[in-house]
Amino acid sequence: MSDAVDPLDGVRPGERRSYWLREALATEPPELAAAAVAPQLTGRARVDVAIIGGGYTGLWTALAIADRHPDARIAILEADICGGGPSGRNGGFVTGWWDELPGLIHRFGETEAVRTARALDDAIDSLGPWCQAHGVDASLRGAGFLQVSAAPAQDDVWAEAVAACERVGEADRWTALTADEVAARVHSPVFRGGAFMPRAATIQPAVLARGLRRVALERGIAIHERTRVRGWSVPRGGGGGGPLILRTSSRRGAGRLEADQVVVAANAWAAAWRPFGSRLLTWSSYIVLTEPIPDRLEEIGWTGGEGIADGRFTLHYGRTTPDGRIALGGGGGRAGFGGRIGRPFTHDAGSARRAAEGLRRWFPSLAGVRIEDAWGGPIDVDDDHRPWFGTLPGGRVHFGLGYSGNGVAPSILGGRILAALATGHAADDEAASLPIVGDGATPRAFPPEPFRYVGARIFREALVRRESAEEAGRRPSRLARAVSGVPRRLGYHLGPE
Ligand SMILES: Cc1cc2nc3c(=O)[nH]c(=O)nc-3n(C[C@H](O)[C@H](O)[C@H](O)COP(=O)(O)OP(=O)(O)OC[C@H]3O[C@@H](n4cnc5c(N)ncnc54)[C@H](O)[C@@H]3O)c2cc1C
Repeated sequence: MSDAVDPLDGVRPGERRSYWLREALATEPPELAAAAVAPQLTGRARVDVAIIGGGYTGLWTALAIADRHPDARIAILEADICGGGPSGRNGGFVTGWWDELPGLIHRFGETEAVRTARALDDAIDSLGPWCQAHGVDASLRGAGFLQVSAAPAQDDVWAEAVAACERVGEADRWTALTADEVAARVHSPVFRGGAFMPRAATIQPAVLARGLRRVALERGIAIHERTRVRGWSVPRGGGGGGPLILRTSSRRGAGRLEADQVVVAANAWAAAWRPFGSRLLTWSSYIVLTEPIPDRLEEIGWTGGEGIADGRFTLHYGRTTPDGRIALGGGGGRAGFGGRIGRPFTHDAGSARRAAEGLRRWFPSLAGVRIEDAWGGPIDVDDDHRPWFGTLPGGRVHFGLGYSGNGVAPSILGGRILAALATGHAADDEAASLPIVGDGATPRAFPPEPFRYVGARIFREALVRRESAEEAGRRPSRLARAVSGVPRRLGYHLGPE
């Protein structure tokens, strides 16, 4: 009987906007929500900087440019509404890069790796004061991030990073916890040891996105929502010196925006554009949300507000909300084809079900708790699993992409970097001097389509089978182990060894 019960409780992802965004829009003053304050672009317009994408990256960039140049004419072009993409529906984990320090060191050397991880911590530290200064009540809770082992195969996945933090004199940024220390924070029959990152937080992601939008509007930044950018070009006969031209479409018709500088902040959607497509894999990620269960959180001891993730590559990640719900995501989304972002990224009940199953596995005592919502979105995975920023040949189109499902904190840094690139301050800007900027940061290309899609699908199937078997205490099949290790053997930083 219980096998027949739908872990999603009949909830169908994709039928409405995420819980976070609905909550944020419900509390927004009607005059701010009105389409008139962020009208569709029709006809012609001229700006200094045009930003494609109204998520965190685009909005932080616009604000950082306005800080530097209050008179700059800036326009954000957003195909949906600001926060309509992953910025308004992510898990709200605000995490640093200390758990990824070995990868950063491998790529950039110890000094630059540590400088980069510290810069991200500074960005995290700036979020609370920014929200406070601008009246953005995004439920920021600086309770830290806990990685746990939820199966023997995940034991000590953090050990190398913990040792690296110790070696570089940053031992307190990412510390190992015993099973008892984990249990003191949260009881789960499957949690074993863990590691803890104190300088991390959770946030209501959509309130942050919509708050950024409000502040941008207050600063005089033009926002055109429901306006899709079809492409950009340099005008003929201008000797390459005239403004770039962005062609847009919206329900109200076509538009044309001229801009001296363009910032591409389109996340996974950029995978459809030639300069970026070969280096980005699009992947779906899904989250389920329970009904409010504050008493049950007391029972399992999860009252400290930590964000938690397990040690799978297809990780599960969970956090609590101020009204005592659990939002839990992951467990293995799916790869997209050729940068097309369609229904598999929003309507895939199978992927949402895997997130719900993760919740039941972590906390079997919550089996009767109702799932009230489920939603998904695309993530832009690159080989390095961290973003890269740069400027296309020609010097006037800048981009920040490849957050790989971890963009809430890095996009703050990204906004500063992109503002420096777009205003010609890269040479004297601390953030723009980080090694995640420029040609040296370019991630390795993936194979072309259709090989990328087919390869990613086969890899994903093998990985989910392998990690599910490991969790169930079974030995994964030789085939699942061999295939899930192929990307590593080919030199990509994806999947287990
Ligand atoms: C389910 C899920 C859970 C996640 N959880 C976390 C988490 O807990 N912590 C974390 O750090 N990260 C998480 N992430 C990743 C995080 O949400 C992203 O890295 C981050 O939001 C990236 O911000 P962005 O502004 O670059 O992209 P987006 O928020 O995607 O914004 C890009 C915008 O560009 C618009 N756009 C695209 N194409 C065009 C076009 N042609 N013209 C105009 N506009 C266009 C889109 O509509 C979109 O609004 C999660 C992602 C998902 C999907």
